[in-house]
Amino acid sequence: MSKYELVAGLETHVELATKTKIFCGCSTEFGGEPNTHCCPVCIGLPGTLPKLNQKVVEYAVLAGLATHCEISEVSTMARKNYVYPDLSKNYQISQFDMPLCTHGWIELSNGRKIRITRIHIEEDAGKLVHSRGNTYVDYNRGGVPLIEIVSEPDIRSIEEAKEYVEKLQFLMRYIGVSDCRMEEGSMRCDVNVSVRPQGIEKLGTRTEIKNMNSISFITKAMAYEYDRQCDLLDSGEAVTQETLRYNEADECTESMRGKEDADDYRYFPEPDLPTIHVTKDWVDKLRTQLPESPEARRQRWMEKLEISDADVQLLLRYREVADYFDKACDGLKNGKAAASCILGQIFRRMETEADKEAFAPTVPPENLNALLRLLDAGKIRMNLVKSTLEKMLDTGKPYGEFLSEKDLAGVDDSQLTALCREALEKNPKAAEDYRAGKEKAVKSLVGYVMKSTRGRADAQKAEELLLKLMA
Ligand code: ADP
Ligand code: MG
Ligand code: ZN
Repeated sequence: MSKYELVAGLETHVELATKTKIFCGCSTEFGGEPNTHCCPVCIGLPGTLPKLNQKVVEYAVLAGLATHCEISEVSTMARKNYVYPDLSKNYQISQFDMPLCTHGWIELSNGRKIRITRIHIEEDAGKLVHSRGNTYVDYNRGGVPLIEIVSEPDIRSIEEAKEYVEKLQFLMRYIGVSDCRMEEGSMRCDVNVSVRPQGIEKLGTRTEIKNMNSISFITKAMAYEYDRQCDLLDSGEAVTQETLRYNEADECTESMRGKEDADDYRYFPEPDLPTIHVTKDWVDKLRTQLPESPEARRQRWMEKLEISDADVQLLLRYREVADYFDKACDGLKNGKAAASCILGQIFRRMETEADKEAFAPTVPPENLNALLRLLDAGKIRMNLVKSTLEKMLDTGKPYGEFLSEKDLAGVDDSQLTALCREALEKNPKAAEDYRAGKEKAVKSLVGYVMKSTRGRADAQKAEELLLKLMA
């Protein structure tokens, strides 16, 4: 065990998926020609007045509920003053001493709960674009609504930090408040890291690595920072509290500036916006709007549908996939076949993560469900399900187009016996091999039966019959 324990707390910015910005009606869409999603309010012209978008409060409350936060009945907006060209007003409208959500938590797979100090709403700043030796500013992102989710310094390892970020990302997507695309900047983390001797309660001096937009960079930056701070302490030096940036090319952290305190921002109440009142009734209504929690869903699937933990994980990764799976399993006793169709055949046709996230296969879940009901009722077997599903996926048509009455009739015992006899007659070599001790030879005989019934026969029953006939 290392001499020092790592301690980390994360501040995670998540862009909310509202159609319009937080204080004006401009579009929040990512990209676009620079400065085309803008108006006098979101470029911060003097004399304009902000108007709070109610959807922003709604999404932030949903985020709070999903992370077990208390929702404040009264909260206020505040001005955070700083000067930087991406923020033409020279202040950001945020929340300070009265945030919308407080005291939540995220539970990790090791059972530890990472406490969430607060979730507040605020506006995003514009973006600086450096090109040909000049710097330009694009205000399209200015005024896009954000929530900032601040954790307590409860994280004790790089793995915990990674899981925490993944869980947050998953949850926010799952409840539909953000797409959390780190590569597009709709989710970014400030990572605060300190170290302390094992067994010591008192927290060490922290550094803050700003604006991390990839999980792999977060883990690398934390590893670097942990080593650097341990080395400092080992050589009797102190860690300086400062703000760092991660240099991706050199894989190291470097100083951006000394650490600013809340005092430096001279926060004061935002005079242009009223107090936000969130009634208990509204919160209760929003609570009913939340989807069944991933945990509850996992429980239900494992108990009722008998699917494996590994499959649950994959199916739960994207909300659309989870919803599709539930519909495909409607009325079925067992979810294994549905899971295998989705995770195998359907996923195979999806090339990107975005395809899986949007999850709109050519076969609607009702049609897969109808096909799987035939399997459930013992009318067809899995290999026929698979070949039929391929055709359904190719064409988008229901199974009725591809399966005839005969296909659905099944194979009765006398037919099966006749076919087994035929298999033995036509493959004397396989029968001989089997009798000579090559047990595998029976598989080719079963294969013959399956092929001549186009997969309708019960392979296990066929094998038993063949063994009897050869005995
Ligand atoms: P700010 O960065 O705005 O000054 P805070 O002081 O509230 O805000 O802390 C921000 C983040 O830093 C929180 O996520 C908190 O958990 C984390 N943090 C605070 N102290 C430490 C520490 N000693 N080691 C690691 N993380 C810390
Ligand atoms: Mg900070
Ligand atoms: Zn605007």
